[in-house]
Amino acid sequence: TRKPIIAGNWKMFKTISEAKQFVEAVKGEAEVDGVESVICAPYTTLPALVEAVQGTSIAIGAQNVHFEDNGAYTGEISGLMLKEIGVKYVIIGHSERRAYFAETDEIVNKKMHAAFKHNLLPIVCVGEKLEERDAGQTKDVCKTQTVGALAGLTAAQVAETVIAYEPIWAIGTGKSSTAADAQDVIGYIRSIVAELYDQTTADAVRIQYGGSVKPETVVEYMGQTDIDGALVGGASLEPASYIALVRGA
Ligand code: 13P
Repeated sequence: TRKPIIAGNWKMFKTISEAKQFVEAVKGEAEVDGVESVICAPYTTLPALVEAVQGTSIAIGAQNVHFEDNGAYTGEISGLMLKEIGVKYVIIGHSERRAYFAETDEIVNKKMHAAFKHNLLPIVCVGEKLEERDAGQTKDVCKTQTVGALAGLTAAQVAETVIAYEPIWAIGTGKSSTAADAQDVIGYIRSIVAELYDQTTADAVRIQYGGSVKPETVVEYMGQTDIDGALVGGASLEPASYIALVRGA
C-alpha cells in the first residue's frame, strides 16, 4: 500500500521569515496519520525550514538540484549541499525548469542519479503541453519523459521515486484535468513502470497529479485508484489552504 503524499511547490515565493511563519501556522494541522506532507521551497529558506519542522511529521524538499557534486556551475546547488541541509525530497524536471531553463530528459535523468547518490528522494515531473494533448500525444509524451527520467535507476530506487503527472496546460491556469483523465494517464504511467521493471516496483511507485489542485478538488483525485497525492503550487502558499489539502488527502 502506497502512502499518499501531498507536496507543496512554493516555486519562487516566500522569504525566510515568511517560511517560518508558515510552519508555525501549519504545525500540528497539516499533519495527518497516513499522509505524507512535504514543502518544497526556495533554496534560501531550506535551512530555516528544516529546523522549523523538527519534531513534526512535515518533510522539506528542494525544487531543483545540479547533477554534479561541485564544479564551475555558477549559481547552481548540488545534491551534496542539499543533503548537508537535511532536506528529504527534491523536485526534478518541473515543466518550468524544462521550459525556461532548457532541461532535457537527459539532464533530468542525470539529476535523478545525483539525487539518489545523496539519498534525496526525487519528485520527478512529467506532462504534456496543450498542443501535444490536442494532437493526441499525451501518453507518448509521458512515456518518453518517464523512460528518460528513470534510465539506469535500480528497481529499488524507482520504488522510492515519486512521479508527478502535471499537464502543462493545467499549471497555474485554473484549468485542471478531470480526475478521470488524470487517472487514465497516471494508470498508464504506472503500466510503463511495470514494463520497464516489474509489477512490484510499479505498485510501489507513488504518482501524484499536479495542475490547479485546490482543497475542494483534492478529494476527487485521491479517490482514483492510481493517484497517490498531489503536487500543488498556488494553493500550497496559504497555511489554511495547505492544511485543507493535507486533511483532504
Ligand atoms: P498550480 O497548483 O499553481 O497549478 O501549480 C502546479 C505545479 O506546477 C506544482 O508543481
